[in-house]
Amino acid sequence: MTSMTNIRIIDTATRELETPAFFPVHNGGKGGEGNTPRYWEMIPDMNTMMINAYSIYSSPLYEKMGEGGLHDKYSNNGVFFVDSGGFQQKNHDLTLDPIEMLRVQENVGADIAATLDLPVFAKDCIYNQKYSDAVKISVKNALIALDNREREDMLIYASLQGNDPIMMMNTIDYLKKRGNFDGFAIGGCISKRSDYHAIIDIIHAVRKRIGDLPLHVFGLGGPTMIPLMVYMGADTFDSSAFLKAGSKRLYYMPGNGSIEFSDIPETTYLPCTCPICSIHPYEEVRSERKLIGMHNLWMITHEIRKLKMAIEENEVEQYLEKRFMNSPAMYEAFRYAKAKKRGLV
Ligand SMILES: [Zn+2]
Repeated sequence: MTSMTNIRIIDTATRELETPAFFPVHNGGKGGEGNTPRYWEMIPDMNTMMINAYSIYSSPLYEKMGEGGLHDKYSNNGVFFVDSGGFQQKNHDLTLDPIEMLRVQENVGADIAATLDLPVFAKDCIYNQKYSDAVKISVKNALIALDNREREDMLIYASLQGNDPIMMMNTIDYLKKRGNFDGFAIGGCISKRSDYHAIIDIIHAVRKRIGDLPLHVFGLGGPTMIPLMVYMGADTFDSSAFLKAGSKRLYYMPGNGSIEFSDIPETTYLPCTCPICSIHPYEEVRSERKLIGMHNLWMITHEIRKLKMAIEENEVEQYLEKRFMNSPAMYEAFRYAKAKKRGLV
């Protein structure tokens, strides 16, 4: 019953990556240096990064980056997931070349590369021409990337687009017949962030269709979504919310979801003993976006550790039962997820 929830080892060019694993999104920012704290130097479990090929390519960082690429620049032992730029392509109305983006991914030393997709958002309406064209382009680009890969040690994940499970399953069948992808990555779920049933349906369908291959979910990785996604069979995920949450002054509560900082009673102490909150007083954490961001990453680290323990003990459902007990919306989502896995809905 819980066979979809596994600890997997992904063999990357840099090292073996144990899942479930989170990839904090590195914000390129102006000049490519960004404002993401150097979290990998502080959190041993979090030596991973999601970075965008188009952002690197369009910044001075690309010219400056030597042969050692991202590993020399950030972390030698880090596992780098380099996204293609599909999101930028969509938002800035660009037409990117899939081979050009593939070369960027190879040149900067990506461990995992996602193929160039054309995201489909909920507002694009289901089943119109624009929607089916976007899916076709994503499929074509995925096969182009696989056929043109020069670095055999770089894993290529096919980016999946589509607003519904059927479209995703058809795409997977088509791609699997034509190429051996190292994994699959689900895009577009971010527009359904609060529609738990839709997210559960999609992850469930994709996991069943891809068998034992690694599965990544783009753009979702909050402290309550992670356990639910892992339960449905996702292995890796990425998000920039930990830092954005920081700028919005959202604080991930230990063992819970996020709350606004102003809702925490103003006392000397914070309700957390992570390396940030045990050293810095309330006022300091509240005023420093990076400190909240780091605290949030510690909470994600903690969540993943607890999940791994539950997976090893084969007690994921018992864990989630307790985890979501005080959150009616998440508890309802979990009940739906459980019924889905049992084939009841
Ligand atoms: Zn903390």
